[in-house]
Amino acid sequence: MIAENLSEIKKNIPTNALLVAVSKTYGVAEIMEAYNAGQKHFGENKVQELQTKVNELPNDIQWHLIGHLQSNKVKYIAPYISLIHSVDSISLLKEIDKQAKKNDRIIDCLLQFHVAQEESKYGLTLAQAQELLESKEIVEFQNINIVGIMGMASNVDDENQVRNEFGELANIFHVLKSHYFKFNADFRHISMGMSGDYELAIEEGSTMIRVGSKIFS
Ligand SMILES: *Cc1c(COP(=O)(O)O)cnc(C)c1O
Repeated sequence: MIAENLSEIKKNIPTNALLVAVSKTYGVAEIMEAYNAGQKHFGENKVQELQTKVNELPNDIQWHLIGHLQSNKVKYIAPYISLIHSVDSISLLKEIDKQAKKNDRIIDCLLQFHVAQEESKYGLTLAQAQELLESKEIVEFQNINIVGIMGMASNVDDENQVRNEFGELANIFHVLKSHYFKFNADFRHISMGMSGDYELAIEEGSTMIRVGSKIFS
């Protein structure tokens, strides 16, 4: 079933869009089933759950941290994390830089934005992102690489609203690209779209979808 789900989703997205299989709450056996079907990118939202799984699973898996990350947990994932989707403060970025340096790595990060109508403590506004990107500190960070943005649409049935929110994320991406990353080819990702809305997200310019339940349940 998992293999069929994966190929069904892949049929619906461009070949250059990345499918991150969100394996939170699912077990090692299910992840192995996806892995054996060729899936190499997996996403988790909790550091502790991620740590447990990393130890039990093949080490060519590329792990994505998609949930809120506390600064004091960065050290656990710094040795191996492939992409952190949820950067929303300069202090977190600073800690990622520090731990990446300790591990002699450069860690790829996405800036997380809040565009959904639901209340959330997490995610930046465009103004906050601009403040972050213009801060004096950021030029000193040698071991992080900001490769794009991430966001979530509201969990509603109104397709227009969801589409508009994805459009807003795409717009944020283009504003940042033209102001801060014009000559930086690494800044190219928009991580948006989940099980219920990934097709809309792709239409609005997503380069990376994060799909869980549609694969695993
Ligand atoms: C759980 C989660 C997903 C995947 O959600 P599904 O609806 O199961 O596809 C994607 N992104 C984030 C940030 C999540 O927490």
